[in-house]
Amino acid sequence: MARQALARVPEDTNWFWQDFGSCRTSDPELFYHPQNERGLRRIRRERAAKAICAHCPVRIECADYALRAREPFGIWGGFSEDEREQRLATG
Ligand code: SF4
Repeated sequence: MARQALARVPEDTNWFWQDFGSCRTSDPELFYHPQNERGLRRIRRERAAKAICAHCPVRIECADYALRAREPFGIWGGFSEDEREQRLATG
């Protein structure tokens, strides 16, 4: 069985910002890709999620958390998992 990637939640994480996230009233399925999602379908879903993040009052806190925790899945702070990996790789 393949091992599931897990976030590495930093010890000093606080979660106050989650109460203010614009995604609280959105469909959570917009933010996480279903298995085998590819191509245009994935691009459209990610764009819809990022459009919500673009106006979120806690975007910076969310993106900071996701980068520090190395969240392996989903759109966080307007960034996909691939975009977060690129940012971490380039410093
Ligand atoms: S930045 Fe996006 S994922 Fe993060 S709390 Fe806001 S809407 Fe949700």
